[in-house]
Amino acid sequence: PINEPVYDYGVGTKERDNLKSALKDVLSKKVEIALIIGGKEIKTENTVDIRCPHQHDIVLGQYYQAGKEEIKLAIESAMNAKKNWAKIDFQERAAIFLKAAELLSTKYRYLMNATTMLSISKNVFQAEIDCVCELIDFLRFNVKFAEKIYEDQPISPKGFWNRMQYRPLEGFVFAVPPFNFVSISGNLPTAPVIMGNVSIWKPASSAVYPSYLFMKILQEAGLPDGVINFVPAKGSTIGDLVFSSREFAGLHFTGSYETFNYMWKTIANNISNYITYPRIVGETGGKDFIFAHNSANVKSLIAAIIRGSFEYQGQKCSAVSRVYIPKLMFNSFKDEFLNELSKIKMGSPEDFTNFMNAVIDRESFDKIKSYIDYAINSNEASILFGGKCDDSVGYFVEPTVIVTENPHFKTMEEEIFGPVVTFYPYDDNKFEETLYLCDKTSIYGLTGAIFAQDRNAINIATEVLESSAGNFYINDKPTGAVVGQQPFGGARASGTNDKAGSLLNLIRWTSARSVKETF
Ligand code: GLU
Repeated sequence: PINEPVYDYGVGTKERDNLKSALKDVLSKKVEIALIIGGKEIKTENTVDIRCPHQHDIVLGQYYQAGKEEIKLAIESAMNAKKNWAKIDFQERAAIFLKAAELLSTKYRYLMNATTMLSISKNVFQAEIDCVCELIDFLRFNVKFAEKIYEDQPISPKGFWNRMQYRPLEGFVFAVPPFNFVSISGNLPTAPVIMGNVSIWKPASSAVYPSYLFMKILQEAGLPDGVINFVPAKGSTIGDLVFSSREFAGLHFTGSYETFNYMWKTIANNISNYITYPRIVGETGGKDFIFAHNSANVKSLIAAIIRGSFEYQGQKCSAVSRVYIPKLMFNSFKDEFLNELSKIKMGSPEDFTNFMNAVIDRESFDKIKSYIDYAINSNEASILFGGKCDDSVGYFVEPTVIVTENPHFKTMEEEIFGPVVTFYPYDDNKFEETLYLCDKTSIYGLTGAIFAQDRNAINIATEVLESSAGNFYINDKPTGAVVGQQPFGGARASGTNDKAGSLLNLIRWTSARSVKETF
């Protein structure tokens, strides 16, 4: 496959008109989002309003939340669907996901973008590369990776026939995505299902709307009832029931380090109840860096810091949140950097000229603000740019740049998940020393970048930072990995590093049987 092309929604294009009318449609109706269990829409007593982060008095509709009964039913439905699903030939299974990709690329492209822009506050470009392009890429490339896995067969000496059967896991897979990428939300349940598994999908509470739309697309593409069960629920309610279920066979997770650890411990406590050792695949947070050498190209460095730190309001696991820069370079680069920062527009996603929109919800807003306040009140840091937060209409946080001389300052070490980046200007003759410091500063190891023209500096950085970033970039921003191009994931506290969008991930959802036959 090739990557899904990114549409241009520039002034005067018909794509722009189509998207504008989809935005109007989404705003003019109130959606009602049911659970989808065993292929049936189910409503409960518990409803939650879906609000626009950029204007919290706009209600886009509501979704129903599952209680214990519905969760049990979802597990039962998954296990019932499993028998047939696992028997369906891979080519036939694959057709469903390829058709879903096609529907996303054509019929639902604008609606999907409009829903994503309004409900999780993404600008048009951020929505397009996520809920359309990356989601499509996950589907198409995963089918390709699966084909490769099935093809990989052992050798058979004369008189024998050896084969590997890449069977699905014995049980169901629990898919728990974050709010920030619709593509991840869609990938977590579908990757295991492409390999013949069934799944329980708990979308993130603040991103139910676009996930629901994708679930409906899967159904339209022919996904049999019960193979994926769409179950918005409180994390603790669904977690308790799923992890105490004998048929729990895998967790496909993206979210916080704390939640992942909690889940892993819960699974460990239940380990003797399960039929099989569950596969645990998770991607958590990051404290991603840009490291500048004094040979760096300043223009591309500035562009990378701005896009890496502030696109989607810094709400990416991969977002740049600490910058190491030589002192001399910092002094000469400041004016141009500040000038570029002052051009950033922030506001509603409906205005396509806004580079930034709102952060996801009140909880995030409060958390990000508390880090900014901490820096404002500290005598170890200063605010170079931004710092204002305003939640009167929507959850808006200015792009914020903190500067510190303490390489272990709180905002240099902890994940903030917002538009906040901290600079540590280092002594010009301490390049290598500072690389070691960068490596040791955070528990995470997700993404990072070195900016240098000097090859020797690139080589040293690549070596010293070997374990600091599962996705390492040379002279580019450390965000925006593309499926099929840069398989994504980190080690250390950032997760199990079973690269999303790669064969390494798909193979985790198999439990192979090796068969030897003697003639
Ligand atoms: N894959 C995304 C990127 O490369 C980040 C995904 C995440 O935030 O979990 O920017």
